[in-house]
Amino acid sequence: MPQAKRVISILGATGSIGQSTLDVIARHPDRYEVFAVSGATQITKLVEIAEQFAPRYVVVLQEANALELREQLKARKVQAEVLVGADALIEIATAAEIDTVMAAIVGAAGMPATLAAAKAGKRVLLANKETLVLAGKLFMDAVIQSGAELLPIDSEHNAIYQSLPVDFRQHPYQSSLAQAGIEKLLLTASGGPFRTRSLAELADITPAEAIKHPNWSMGRKISVDSASLMNKGLEVIEAHWLFNAPVDQIEVVVHPQSVIHSMVQYRDGSVIAQLGSPDMRTPIAYGLAYPERIAAGVKPLDLFAIARLDFEAPDLQRFPCLGLAYSAIRHGGAAPAVLNAANEVAVEYFLAGKIRFTQIPELIEASLSAHADLASSSLEELLYADQCTRLSAQRLAKDWSFKVSC
Ligand code: NDP
Ligand code: MG
Repeated sequence: MPQAKRVISILGATGSIGQSTLDVIARHPDRYEVFAVSGATQITKLVEIAEQFAPRYVVVLQEANALELREQLKARKVQAEVLVGADALIEIATAAEIDTVMAAIVGAAGMPATLAAAKAGKRVLLANKETLVLAGKLFMDAVIQSGAELLPIDSEHNAIYQSLPVDFRQHPYQSSLAQAGIEKLLLTASGGPFRTRSLAELADITPAEAIKHPNWSMGRKISVDSASLMNKGLEVIEAHWLFNAPVDQIEVVVHPQSVIHSMVQYRDGSVIAQLGSPDMRTPIAYGLAYPERIAAGVKPLDLFAIARLDFEAPDLQRFPCLGLAYSAIRHGGAAPAVLNAANEVAVEYFLAGKIRFTQIPELIEASLSAHADLASSSLEELLYADQCTRLSAQRLAKDWSFKVSC
């Protein structure tokens, strides 16, 4: 009997994860139907997506972009309704017609629609790690209450998910790592493009160098996060919430080849890992087809060509962002939200050439000192902490950018 198609909304369809998702979907037109897609600035790309995948809705954030989008769709004779704004993102993430949401907007901007999808009980393919950093408890509570099916797309968390016992990974809050016989989650990190640079050299890193990742092709923000190791810090927080994992049981292991995507260390001495080529289409296909396996277009792993796997401890002196993330999750409350907001501002200013690479952790540390104790028990309070941090971090970064340029 032919199976029913999965019907999907893709939040952030024009981005790196969005494009990889569409690539996997295009390989399986019998299995998946694209109901809605969203983008922010790349209007021509959205038109091309609409032409190829015929979604019912295309969402953008600004009226000006919507105007251009409607004109281009009309010129290409593509039938899709254009919706505008953050509320429209929530509409397409919760629509009754869909069963699956790919959450692939970058940054805290992706949180409201991702949270809404969880509340609506959808299968949530979670790429947007910032949702868990900003509002981890609220998000996991929503998943548990609605019975949403949460599948991690971030490659490390997807690897851990694949390496965990089935009962535990599906209901991590009904037991504990200890009850599942697990001692540690081993989160691998490539170490980024500056793994071997000295502290002195890091001050003069340019944005172009920072976005050139040695193994993965990704969006600009996560590429900078990978270079500063903040990406790994955000991932420690992500793992903490996804797997109900005490932070002391999450260990970061630098593994420059990015072949082992992460591991689970069990009490009896077993370590279970997931390996693969560094290509996000693997975890995306896993999430789309779970519990089945489908072709993803990924190059098979050639262990003879790889020949060796290396491991080293992260250097928190050269890469303080990782230590800051550990401190933030240990502190709890608003600290992870503050860390995330300050990091987003810092990365934006660094990419604009206004602050130095080494000022990213400085801005985050200053923000944590100022705002980590803000109230955090509701979504409103967390959003206030996020906004407050952004405003003060922007003021500080402007002040520093003056110093850099003179
Ligand atoms: P990209 O920058 O490539 O894409 C981001 C997407 O979000 C684009 O569709 C962009 O639209 C849209 N967008 C940007 N700003 C906003 C906003 N304010 N509101 C709504 N939409 C917006 O990012 P990635 O695909 O690399 O990453 C997406 C998420 O997945 C991030 O949270 C990242 O940490 C996570 N992730 C990514 C991995 C990767 O390999 N890329 C790996 C693991 C996790 P437009 O382009 O049209 O402006
Ligand atoms: Mg990752």
